[in-house]
Amino acid sequence: MATATTQRGFAVKCIACGEGETVRLDVHDVHSFHCGSCDGEFSADDVRTELARWGKLLAWLDTAPSVEG
Ligand SMILES: [Zn+2]
Repeated sequence: MATATTQRGFAVKCIACGEGETVRLDVHDVHSFHCGSCDGEFSADDVRTELARWGKLLAWLDTAPSVEG
């Protein structure tokens, strides 16, 4: 198991629990991640799906009217 954060310098957080420097990459299946904090397993596609959701929200924020009082 390689540590995606410390060995490669990717400062990623677990998409399930939000902990940092706990996500490990299975070198035999580089599209599969394991979190040492919550014991969660997720795939590269899971991360892409999560990022796409955030992308939609951020795109909406750019067009949302300001609600300053
Ligand atoms: Zn986790």
